[in-house]
Amino acid sequence: MDAIVLLGAPGSGKGTVAEDIRNAVNYQHVSTGDLLRAAIKAGSALGEEAKRYMERGELVPDEVIINIVKELIDSGSRDARYMFDGFPRTFAQAERLDEVLSSYGSSVKYVFLLEVARPVLVRRICGRRICRQCGAVYNIHTKRPSVDGVCDHCGSKDIYQRADDTEETLNNRLDVYERQTAELIDYYDRKKILVRVDAEDRLKTEQAIVAYLA
Ligand code: AMP
Repeated sequence: MDAIVLLGAPGSGKGTVAEDIRNAVNYQHVSTGDLLRAAIKAGSALGEEAKRYMERGELVPDEVIINIVKELIDSGSRDARYMFDGFPRTFAQAERLDEVLSSYGSSVKYVFLLEVARPVLVRRICGRRICRQCGAVYNIHTKRPSVDGVCDHCGSKDIYQRADDTEETLNNRLDVYERQTAELIDYYDRKKILVRVDAEDRLKTEQAIVAYLA
């Protein structure tokens, strides 16, 4: 088992980068945000609980998140290679991840910190649109579908803005991120596994991470 972490503010491009490089680096992309949204869509009790926090831009309680990730790891293969996106987000989550991995004789190998200036984050996130059908991600400033309002991948016309991608919720999410992450950055820096990546340019970000892991 092997694990790396992509750390970065909402809008730093973690999800897109992870999807783009997962084949090249041979890691499975695990986004806790996507897992939670899937639980909401499925109407599970877990989804109902998570939804209340997510709509306000607050973090879902550590125990809920840790259980989701632990279940995923416990039910996965011993040879699995995980690229976590949006997890861990708190010091407690980082500690628990270490515990779970160490029970399999493994540990976090690298933590890539995707660094992007705040005004760029706000522009990116408020412009983000998603296909409800297949999950493809678009951006009204940088990545519109070829035909307006129609998904390039599946042809669906149901392209929407995430409820927590509005400017009001976003500012709260960015504040939460900054408060929580300072401690995490410090933790991984002291372990000497933190790799800072300038993430203003997506392609360069991806090349830097792929080269680092090669
Ligand atoms: P994301 O898609 O990573 O931006 O996550 C969207 C929302 O899901 C966050 O604003 C949180 O409410 C929740 N969430 C996702 N991952 C975590 C996590 N590791 N810890 C706590 N809450 C999370």
